[in-house]
Amino acid sequence: MVQKQYLTYNDVHKLCQEAAPEILEKFQPQLIIAIGGGGYIPARILRSFLKQPGSPNIPIQAIGLSLYETLPSDTTTDSPVGGAPEKEGTEVIRTQWLDLSALGEMFNLVGKRVLIVDEVDDTRRTLEYAVRELEKDVELARAKLGVQGETKFSIFVLHNKDKEKKGTLPKDMMEEGRYMAARTVGDAWICYPWEATDIDEHDRLAKSQGVEEHAEHNKLA
Ligand code: 5GP
Repeated sequence: MVQKQYLTYNDVHKLCQEAAPEILEKFQPQLIIAIGGGGYIPARILRSFLKQPGSPNIPIQAIGLSLYETLPSDTTTDSPVGGAPEKEGTEVIRTQWLDLSALGEMFNLVGKRVLIVDEVDDTRRTLEYAVRELEKDVELARAKLGVQGETKFSIFVLHNKDKEKKGTLPKDMMEEGRYMAARTVGDAWICYPWEATDIDEHDRLAKSQGVEEHAEHNKLA
């Protein structure tokens, strides 16, 4: 049985709040790219904490990437609180990509600091795909527009699972601390609040888990 970890909206909010100063200190993003669907809500919350007085809100663009397929056996659980682990996919499929024209005719990725946001880094395949494809877009824009300037990508996830990764991220990103996870966790299945169809039950489970962990912690202390 795969262990589940329940997170409330407040937990997500506080993880974003906690991470924001480090993101600002290290990176100061000019554009956020949320990987849908799990990156949308963290990206929006984060933006409030990244807002600097006198500066406009950082624009958020969305890309849709899909890696996991639901197994028929998983759907039989009928869980109202976060669903079940899904079969691990190996191929990343684009379901949505950037629309930079929405940011104005001259906006492109060249020379920008871009923060990619997702909820969880599991096998890392999705993040590898996102960075690789976005870097290709930068090269295309450079060639097409004849503009120079270094584009830097950074990543923020709520959770990084501490496991063997199938995907890799650029070495300089890792070495320069441009990969940031609010929490590094074990290989449990994390149930995020936006997946719950019964949010009260979800929150109850999150709360009871918190109480259990607290008791366990006291036992060990
Ligand atoms: P990766 O490409 O890193 O294997 O997987 C990324 C995607 O898989 C995530 O964006 C998410 O949709 C899904 N995923 C992987 N692990 C979990 C988990 O523990 N909980 C939830 N809710 N989704 C997960």
